[in-house]
Amino acid sequence: MSNRLQDKVALITGGTSGIGEATAALFVAEGARVVITGRSEEKGAGIAARLGENAVYFHADVTQEADIAASVDETLARFGKLDILFNNAGGPVGGTIDSITGEQIDDGVHLLLSSVMLGMRYAVAPMKANGGGVIINNSSIAGLRYRQGNLLYSALKAALTHYSKLAAVELGPDRIRVNVISPGAIATPIFWGGSERANTLSDEENARKMAKLQSNLAKATPLPMSGLADDIAEAALYLASDAGRFVSAHDLVVDGGRTSMFNE
Ligand code: NAD
Repeated sequence: MSNRLQDKVALITGGTSGIGEATAALFVAEGARVVITGRSEEKGAGIAARLGENAVYFHADVTQEADIAASVDETLARFGKLDILFNNAGGPVGGTIDSITGEQIDDGVHLLLSSVMLGMRYAVAPMKANGGGVIINNSSIAGLRYRQGNLLYSALKAALTHYSKLAAVELGPDRIRVNVISPGAIATPIFWGGSERANTLSDEENARKMAKLQSNLAKATPLPMSGLADDIAEAALYLASDAGRFVSAHDLVVDGGRTSMFNE
């Protein structure tokens, strides 16, 4: 490793599973100090313990504004600053056009959109005070193409991407870069109900589901391989590090070529 995040402090939401967990591990390996948030105390504390003294778990639900504000406060209290915010937490949302309820829409907005807007709202002041920062929002190719997620999920990810690009323009003068990653199909528990459901299954059952999923996903992209959480972690590292110093308002699609299989 080349310590590409030496002396950096990162806050990663939804760091107890999948992409967030892989990104936390890579960021720590690259020299960052990292606060991961999530809703599973047991998993979060276990991951932080495995990553060592440069990782901390903080219990926070991204659908709750007070928890988001507290996550930023905790990061500042623990490590003195905030350089990198990865708004990653998310999960399945929605319903069909003719059956979706107001409650499902509200829940989806809170989980996938206001979580990101409020995360940015609370991160920007300490970043400005620190002379700059990096915000990375985890979107999806579902925001770009039909049938990569249900309609609510897709529409919210599209909104998240647009919001991020506009925010990048406004925050550029403060040396805050804002970028989006749009993962394609990445083998994580989101495909079998999200990490909350995965937590109810045995390790063997989760491993069996993961193996089957990876085999199926390898048939669904031009590259004959399944996308892995580590692929998105590497993209986040590029955007977070000085290698990406001139990259802002960008949507980094990491999908093995999948979006090009579907015309606009
Ligand atoms: P995952 O289920 O493995 O992880 C999701 C993480 O978000 C978990 O840590 C979970 O606890 C956390 N989370 C969910 N709801 C939360 C809440 N209310 N408060 C706090 N934390 C919460 O799934 P993943 O695939 O790693 O998903 C991470 C992000 O990547 C999501 O935003 C998802 O929409 C996006 N994404 C995933 C894929 C994919 O194919 N896996 C593709 C495109 C985008």
